[in-house]
Amino acid sequence: KLHNTIQELKGNIRVFCRVRPMLPDEEEDSSDSPGPIRFPTSVELMGRGIEVQAEKGQQYSFTFDKVFGPEVEQSVVFEELSQLVQSALDGYKVCIFAYGQTGSGKTYTMLGATEPDRHRGMIPRSLEQIFMTSKGLEQQGWRFSMQASMLEIHNETIRDLLSAATARASCGLVDLAAGGSKQHVVKHDANGNTTVTDLTLVEVTSWREVATLLARAAQYRSVGKTAMNERSSRSHCVFTLRITGVNDGTEQQVNGVLNLIDLAGSERLSRSGATGERLKETQAINKSLSSLGDVISAIANKEAHIPYRNSKLTYLLQPCLGGDSKTLMFVNIAPDRHSEAESLCSLRFAAKVN
Ligand code: ADP
Ligand code: MG
Repeated sequence: KLHNTIQELKGNIRVFCRVRPMLPDEEEDSSDSPGPIRFPTSVELMGRGIEVQAEKGQQYSFTFDKVFGPEVEQSVVFEELSQLVQSALDGYKVCIFAYGQTGSGKTYTMLGATEPDRHRGMIPRSLEQIFMTSKGLEQQGWRFSMQASMLEIHNETIRDLLSAATARASCGLVDLAAGGSKQHVVKHDANGNTTVTDLTLVEVTSWREVATLLARAAQYRSVGKTAMNERSSRSHCVFTLRITGVNDGTEQQVNGVLNLIDLAGSERLSRSGATGERLKETQAINKSLSSLGDVISAIANKEAHIPYRNSKLTYLLQPCLGGDSKTLMFVNIAPDRHSEAESLCSLRFAAKVN
């Protein structure tokens, strides 16, 4: 009950902070620093609070709906969002974002690793749950159909991550796009349904089918090199599951959407050493991330005008942000001292939308 009241006040926006463990090379790095003894980590957690120790001894504290420490496993994190995922089957539109600097654990949180099982992220766990629950609901007369799509937004341009993959796929795919260089245009109709022209929509009936798609899509993601992290992701990756449910007995109908979004790295220019094309790319990322922040905080503050049109990402997700849709943002944090400035930026961004 109390939980519901809080949700209403916040317009269905929640923020979870997740701090990843120290990586082996970060632990070594901290051992022989000169001067007074420094903690290997600049982050401290207390319940729903997180405190960051900055350069000159200042401390900054933040509070979120949940804070997950480095020891918290994927399955435990998922327990906290399984209800939200479930609501997509009830006909809600749901967005789950991962925000943070490159290397902070966004992809680990969303996708995770396939081996071993306990590293599987929120996307596989969500889909597995949705398929399991929908099978259960069939006994009550429900029939569900699900369509998956996966796209990338890079420099404000949409790329279909499933189009090239569909050609070789064998499991009843609907291939709407022939080439890889189509111009994709986002259109919304009066019912809040979104179409992206020429985007591949794949009818899926099991988690296994989705896993195959994810593996193929991963090969097409833009990955760039920065001074900071070679595997740096320079694009937003949006996985969408459209759910249509019809009940033969009661003639009820539901249309839910589940969006799972691995955002581009939020690191600032100076730190990634960007020039030329990379500079342009970074500016596009910064602009779309700040647009996302503006949209979510406008929704949270119940402002009359929500600036959806300032970026491709917010325009694409417009029907799934605000109204009675539900949003969850992970702010991913790297715990090492070198990341404290970036961590502070991420936490401030998240605090603004919370
Ligand atoms: P990002 O997608 O934000 O750039 P990654 O998800 O690739 O960051 O994470 C960076 C590294 O940290 C990866 O090697 C990943 O496996 C590891 N990592 C991130 N979060 C966790 C976690 N919660 N537990 C264990 N390893 C993690
Ligand atoms: Mg990543």
